[in-house]
Amino acid sequence: MVANDNARRTPLIAGNWKMNLDHLQAIAFVQKLAWNLKDAKHDFSSVEVAVFPPFTDLRSVQTLVSADKLPLAYGAQDVSAQDSGAYTGEISGAFLSQLECQYVLIGHSERRTLHGEDDEQVAAKVKAAIKHNLVPIICVGETAADLELHGPSAVPVAQLKTALSGVSNAADIVVAYEPVWAIGSGQAATPEQAEQVAAQLRNVLKETLGEDVAAKTRILYGGSVKGVNIAGFMREPNVDGALVGGASLDIDEFSSIVRFQKHVGL
Ligand code: PEP
Repeated sequence: MVANDNARRTPLIAGNWKMNLDHLQAIAFVQKLAWNLKDAKHDFSSVEVAVFPPFTDLRSVQTLVSADKLPLAYGAQDVSAQDSGAYTGEISGAFLSQLECQYVLIGHSERRTLHGEDDEQVAAKVKAAIKHNLVPIICVGETAADLELHGPSAVPVAQLKTALSGVSNAADIVVAYEPVWAIGSGQAATPEQAEQVAAQLRNVLKETLGEDVAAKTRILYGGSVKGVNIAGFMREPNVDGALVGGASLDIDEFSSIVRFQKHVGL
């Protein structure tokens, strides 16, 4: 095991709900998740927790979080590259900001593969998010075919370089390394595989945005994370949290991931 050098970065556990839970279910879920974590005396300042509901839930989540002063962050699963106008079906970053979203996922593999988003579109969305004071969680990752053809880090490194093309070194960003073959497959990467790519991604941050930004930027691992495997990832020096899909819809499982410090001996 490598010694941790990530003490400067607050871990982030982010739950991507994808197209699950309507606004009424979202209210019940967020309330229960917050109670569960408070009951367990979770220290939200030592591990940040964020949820990413569908767009139609965000106003309800905002109202609940603000009324009950819940220590949870939330964000959207996508954002338009445009500010406003004739873009049917798109959602502006300005609207998300109005709903007090702190974060937005950009370039998730399902957006790339099912909706044809390319690296240039991802870069434009990253710029739009920053313009509207949202922290972009930039998702990168290789497919199984990429892995065989190019090895583990070539594709995520290239994706991140393009995504950062319009970003200044004052920007607050998060990077999520999600190997496409590990998403929803039950076959997570090993902690060593995640660390190897995360270290390369941190080098990209260093080259493009400088040492300081690279040192403070959180890099998450995503792909079949569960309560039983989070420990291994969180021991790695360049992994600062997790982007969780399926397991984020199970309150006990997600809480167990959030409370990784209780079962990893960090
Ligand atoms: C995801 O969709 O971002 C994800 C990591 O999914 P899962 O945890 O289900 O693999």
